[in-house]
Formats: sequence, structure tokens, C-alpha cells
Amino acid sequence: MLNADNIKEYLSEIEEALQNDFQRKTLDTFAVAYRTGRANAFSGMDIPGLVKDIARSKDDSLAEMDELYQQFKEKAQALGVHVHLAADAKQANEIIAGIAREHQCRNVVKSKSMTAEEIHLNVALEKEGMKIVETDLGEWIIQLRKEPPSHMVLPAIHLSRYQVADLFEKVTSKKQDSDIFKLVKVARRELRREYVQADMGISGANFAVAETGSLGLVTNEGNARLVTTLPRVHVALVGLEKLTPKLKDALLLLKALPRNATGQQITSYVTWLTGPSECKSSADGKKVMHIVFLDNGRRKLSSDKNFSQILRCIRCGACANVCPVYRLVGGHKYGYVYIGAIGLVTTYFFHGRDKARLLVQNCINCGACKEVCAAGIDLPGLIKDIHARILDEEGHPPRSKLLAMVLKNRRLFHMLLRNMRFAQLPFADAKARYVRHLPSIFMKGQDFRKLPVLASTAFRDKWKSVKPNVSRPKLKVGLFSGCAVDFIYPEQMEAAVKVISKGKSIAQDHPEKQTCCGLPALMMGEKDAARETARQNIEAFASSGSDYIVTLCASCAAHLKYGYPKLLEGEKGLEQKLKAFTDKVMDFSSFVRDVMRISPMLFRKTVQKVGYHSPCHLCRGLEVREAPRANINLVHEYVPTAEEEVCCGFGGSYSLNFPPVSRTLLAGKMANLRAGGISAVGTDCPGCVMQIRGGMARAGIDIEVKHVAELMAEQLK
Ligand code: SF4
Ligand code: SF4
Repeated sequence: MLNADNIKEYLSEIEEALQNDFQRKTLDTFAVAYRTGRANAFSGMDIPGLVKDIARSKDDSLAEMDELYQQFKEKAQALGVHVHLAADAKQANEIIAGIAREHQCRNVVKSKSMTAEEIHLNVALEKEGMKIVETDLGEWIIQLRKEPPSHMVLPAIHLSRYQVADLFEKVTSKKQDSDIFKLVKVARRELRREYVQADMGISGANFAVAETGSLGLVTNEGNARLVTTLPRVHVALVGLEKLTPKLKDALLLLKALPRNATGQQITSYVTWLTGPSECKSSADGKKVMHIVFLDNGRRKLSSDKNFSQILRCIRCGACANVCPVYRLVGGHKYGYVYIGAIGLVTTYFFHGRDKARLLVQNCINCGACKEVCAAGIDLPGLIKDIHARILDEEGHPPRSKLLAMVLKNRRLFHMLLRNMRFAQLPFADAKARYVRHLPSIFMKGQDFRKLPVLASTAFRDKWKSVKPNVSRPKLKVGLFSGCAVDFIYPEQMEAAVKVISKGKSIAQDHPEKQTCCGLPALMMGEKDAARETARQNIEAFASSGSDYIVTLCASCAAHLKYGYPKLLEGEKGLEQKLKAFTDKVMDFSSFVRDVMRISPMLFRKTVQKVGYHSPCHLCRGLEVREAPRANINLVHEYVPTAEEEVCCGFGGSYSLNFPPVSRTLLAGKMANLRAGGISAVGTDCPGCVMQIRGGMARAGIDIEVKHVAELMAEQLK
């Protein structure tokens, strides 16, 4: 669980987590195996269709939360169940403690429940003098270690079997073998005794079916069955968002849950409870059964147009499984109670702003979580929204206020960039085009890669001299350069201009009034500045009359196309221009391959082995995967390398704010590229070029890093 109070402490906790070799190796192995397991488990299924159905079904249920609760209550009460509604964590704990007191329960066995973690139920009941024993193996292990879970589905994934053997040795006072099978036997033996002695069982529930008043529980160990059937009192703690109208709605979620969680087609145990079961130790022969529904902000959230999405979550944990940051730092540094991308968002609502403030900054915006979310939740978008909301509530720091002010004023922004190239001269290696050294205040933690200098002439200032003359054009392309291409790598856009000019009758334009796409401002929580730059770009291209808006920057492309509609939603008078703009946006690789249908005859193909790094916002943001690889293969021999779609660690300002994570992601990327036996790597994003090229240069690795446009232009006949 995150303890840091400020960014300095958080960074030092992150550094510590990065030194945990066992955790790093385990999470790496799991991340790779998970991808294959998930793909196999979903094989032959229409995943986008399933995700859409789940999102729709959950949204419908959320819209009727109160009605479903009433319906469930009536059905369950008719079966003899006591149903409660707790407004918040405190009330839920009091209700459960009250039930225990009323029935003289002292010994509690519990099955895994994130909702119970959310309200810190164990702590509350222990204060009442009760003995609580977790019965899920992972949960039992971390309970014995007095730790919170580090993953929503695999709570003890951060521990080795040797650590578990040592722990069990202490618990049993006997020497223990580290063989996993034997360790499981130890747990089974110890826990059986607890089940038999327990007078109360506490469970969560994955589904609460209103039409029948039934609960559904999904487990792999069968412990929930013992917890809910052996003790004479059963209490289920259930978040209100688990209500579904009918059994078929629950079964729809069940289709995705095990597949998305662990890559299993079906989980080992699915338990349905409809009313109290037989119980010989009760006076009336029936178990005492209570269901405590937890609100804790859920009812209010369910009517929030934007954030209600988070209540669709089925707690599969997939958003952590694929998150490159989680994979490096583990759940104790990437969540509070709820872990991974969803944890970054829910922490704000369930545990407050103080717990969320640092977490929401630690997202590199790679989009991997969104791609696998079983409920179609726009997790990266919501993380940015929470960040912006926290800044609005607490006040924006001077650094981001300044950035916002500068970005809103295009002339000032570009004037500053032009003048900065003079300011950098004393620190620059002009020939190599890297910063030689910077005062340490600017370089803190940044020396894992060389940083580029600003170009002597920005692309916008070269445009007139490189603009091709096309008489009677049939198509017009508007070039959107973005800040990095415009001011650092103008040669990338020059290369693109050369390649595009090989198309028949294509005119090109570079509207002067274009400016930063606004993503950096959004990443810093400066939504107003991001909106303003979006408006400026839409206006700049509206007057250009282009048929396509082509960009070399994957992040710009994804933001222009999909970020702008969200940012400017509902803005009066802009709808048509916005749509006309976003419809035209395209990445360079797709444009030359799919629109120009560029001929291989235009290029000299070599046998040079060239790899590819797939920018997050191209492969997941725009879902462009094949075009850039095919383009490389037109001019060189494209060689696949491992984990091409895993983030390089750039993430714009992220790499400046979280250098330890950026450095480690880059190291992994470079290791994979080196292992591919390639002499060059192409990519479609100036930010990725900056990160990987700078890393290669710093490490002295002889692999060239270029934009795909450059690779192509160099081989034009
Ligand atoms: S966008 Fe990427 S870094 Fe951010 S939470 Fe999702 S997976 Fe993790
Ligand atoms: S947010 Fe999506 S991926 Fe993450 S746990 Fe919830 S359903 Fe699974």
C-alpha cells in the first residue's frame, strides 16, 4: 500500500521496488504468459462484441441501481435473508460487527473480497476482539505477513515460495519444504481447522441477481464454499454495482471474468447462493444469512456521466496484468487498495484525494489497460480526468500553470522555442545534436539517455523552401508536425514530404497557425489549455482545405483523432468543424500504404535487418499495426523483435517526472531490440525516436533509430 506523502518519497519507494529482482522477474514472466493465456482463452470469440455487451449490460444495471436493490432485497428477504444497505465503510463495519455480537461470533473465516479490503473490515473486526482468518491462499499469506494485496486476483504474486516457506515455518513452528505442492498442503491443513472452529463466515460476491435474490461467487480454491456453508452465520459484503437484473446478465460477465483475469476458460468454482442453507447447529435448522450492500459513493457515482464507467469493473485485474508500470513496481506502489489502472481511478472516490494524488501521476498513458478492459472502461482517459480534477480542487502548480499559459499563446510558444535554440548553445554538442551537459537541476535522473538539442531551423521555418509544387492536384494533404517534429526533428517531416510527393498529384500544405496538439497540457492536468490548443488546430486546418491531415507523431495523431472529440464534447458551433477535422487525421504509415498505395518500384530495397518499435498511441490508440512494418519491409528486411508493442518509457512529460520507471522501461526495450540482431529500428513517433535513440547513444549501442518516413525517404530511387 502506498505510504508516500509527496513525489520525492514516492520516487524513492519506486526506486526501492525496482530493486526487487524477484518481484520484477515474477511480474515479467506473468505479463508474458498472461498475454498468451488470455489470447488462447478468448480464441474464436468476438472480444470487442463481448466487451460492448458487458458495458451495455453494466450501464443498464447501474442506471437502475436503486430499483435492483429493492427487488433483490424483497426476493432475498422472502427467502429468509437479512439485507442491509451501508452508506459508507464505517456503517458497513458497524453492521457486520453488530451481527457478530448479536450471534456471539468470535471466530471468523473469510473468503477473498476486495470490497472488504476497501472498508478495512479485518481491522474493524479485530478491534472488536474477533479473530479473522483469510482462507484464500494468497490472502492468508499476506494476512500473516500483515501486508495488503499486491494484485486484485493474485494477492501474493510478489512473494517467492521460499518466502512463503519461511512464513509457514514461523506459523507452524515446523521446518517447511519450499515445494509449492507441500506448501499448499500446509495451508489446507491449517485452514481446515479454522473452518471447523469458525462461527461466522464472511464472503464477498461477484454477482447479486435481483430476479432471484441470489449471490454468485467465483473462486479457484473452493474456499468460498466452505466459508459460506460451514459456519452457522454467513455475512456477504457486496458493492451495489454487483447487482444485475437477471441470471443471464451475470453469466455474460462470467464469460469474460476468468478469461480476462487469468487466461482460464472457466474458473474452478462458481457458487450460487439463493437464501440460507441448511445448518444443524442453528435452532431453526437454517443458517443465519446477512447480505450487506455497500454504497460508499457508488450511488452518486452511478449517475456521473463520465465516471460511472468505473462501476462496470468486474475486478478481473487485467488492467494491472498489462500495465508496464505495474509490471515494474508491483501493486504495493501502484494502487491503494484497488490495484492497477482501475485502482488509480477508484482510489480517489473510495479512499480520497490524498491517497490518489501521487498515483494518478504515475500513468504513462500507454493505453494497454484500456485495450484489455473487459468492461470497455476508458481507463487512461479517466486517470487524466482525475488528475485534472485534483489540480482543480487543490490549485495548479506554478510549473503546469506556466506551461498552460505558454501553450495557449501560439506565437509566444513558438517564439520561446526558436529562442531556446540559442540558449542551449553552451550546453550542446551541435554536431551530434545532443545536449552535452545541463545544470544538474535539469538533468536530475535524466542521464539514462542523451537528450536531443533543438534543430537550428524549425520545420515551419523551412516549409516554404521544401514545399513541392504540384500543378493540378487531385488530393491535398495537410501536414501536422507536432512540437517534436517541428522543432527537434524537422528532417523527419522533410523525409515524409519527399515520400508523399511521389504520389500522383498530391499537394501538401503545412498550415502555419497549427500548434502543439495539447496532449502534454492534458497529461499535466491542464484541460483548459488542452482545449484551447485543440480549437486553434481545428481552425488552422479548417482554412487549409486538406483532404487528409497527416502526422508523423503517433501521440499527436491519436489525440487529434480521439482526444479532441472528448475534450470538446458539446462545444456549441464547433461540432461540424471538429468532425471534419478528426475524420481526416491519419498517421503517415497508413497514409502512404492505404491511401497512396505506394509502389515498391519507387524504392531500392536492401537486405539490412531492421526492427520496429510500435508506439503505444499508434498500435492501441489508432489500432495501426501492419502498415509501418510493411513500409519498413518495402525498403529493408523487417525483423520482428520481442514485445514490440510494449511502451519504450517516453510518455512525454512522464519521462521527466518518473525517470526511474522511464529508464527501466527503456532498458527493457533496448535489450529486446539488441536481442533481435538488427542494425536499425524504425518507429512512427518522434517521442519514441528521442527516447530510444537517446538510450542507444548513452549506452553506446550501435543501432540506428529512425522514423519510418526517414527509412523510406533514404531508399527512394
Ligand atoms: S495507460 Fe498504461 S501506464 Fe497508464 S494505467 Fe493504463 S496500462 Fe498503466
Ligand atoms: S477496470 Fe477493466 S480490466 Fe481492470 S479490473 Fe476492472 S474490468 Fe478488469
